Amino acid sequence: MLEVEELEVRYGAIRAVRGISLRVASGELVALVGANGAGKSSTLMCIAGALKAAAGSVHLDGEDITSGKPETIVRRGIATVPETRDVFPDLTVDENLMLGSYIRRGDGKGVAEDRARMLSLFPRLAERAAQPAGTLSGGEQQMLVIARAMMSRPKVLLLDEPSLGLAPVIVDQIFEMIAVLKKTGVTILLVEQNVGKALSVADRAYVMRLGRIAASGTAAEIGAQTDLSALYLGA
Ligand code: ATP
Repeated sequence: MLEVEELEVRYGAIRAVRGISLRVASGELVALVGANGAGKSSTLMCIAGALKAAAGSVHLDGEDITSGKPETIVRRGIATVPETRDVFPDLTVDENLMLGSYIRRGDGKGVAEDRARMLSLFPRLAERAAQPAGTLSGGEQQMLVIARAMMSRPKVLLLDEPSLGLAPVIVDQIFEMIAVLKKTGVTILLVEQNVGKALSVADRAYVMRLGRIAASGTAAEIGAQTDLSALYLGA
C-alpha cells in the first residue's frame, strides 16, 4: 500500500534521511524505531508532505505522491498525527473530532457513522465529548488527535511518537488504542522511541540509525536482536 524508495530529506547541508526504503502492506502495522535524531520524524513528515523529498519517491497504492501538498496527501488517504499533539483547546472534544472530517464535506452520513464509531471505540472521549479539549490530560489529548486523524477515513495512519512525554500507565492505554485501531483494518506506520511498546503492537519493524535503515524484520525478529541497543544508541 505504502512504498518509500530511496527517500532523502535534507535540512540545508544536514542529510537527515539518507536514502531509505520501506514498505507497509494493507492492514499492516509497521514500526519505525531508532534513537533521537535518527531521522524517523523527518521520514514521516516527508511522507505526509510537510517536508519536501530531496530524492527518492513515495507511492500510495501505486500512485506517486512524493512531495505532494499536505492536504492533497490527506485526500489521497494518508492521515498524520504529529508528535506536537495539537488540539484546539477552546473547542470541545467533539468539535475537535469533527474537524478531522474536513475533507469529507458532502458525506454527512459517513462522517456521523465514523464519529459514533470513534466515540464507541474510545469511551473516554465519549464521556468528555462536550468538554473543552484543553481540559483533557496529555494522554486523553493524544487519544483525541489519533481519533481525529481517523475521521478522514485514512487508508494509512502515520503516528509520530504517540508515547512522548506520557506516564507509563498512559502509554499502555495509548498502545491499547493503537491495537484497537489495527483490528479495524487501518494500515499504520508508527514512529516510536519506546521500542518495546512499538514491537508489542507491530507486525514488522525497521530500525533507523543516522538517517539509514540499520535493520528490518518481523517485530519478533527485531525484538530478538542482541545488538539492538547498539543499533538504537548508535554505539
Ligand atoms: P526524534 O525522536 O528526536 O524526533 P528522529 O529520529 O525523529 O528523532 P528527526 O527529528 O527526523 O529524528 O531528525 C533527524 C536529523 O535532522 C537530526 O540530526 C536533527 O537534528 C535534524 N533536524 C530535524 N529537524 C531539523 C530542522 N528543522 N532543521 C535542521 N535540522 C533538523
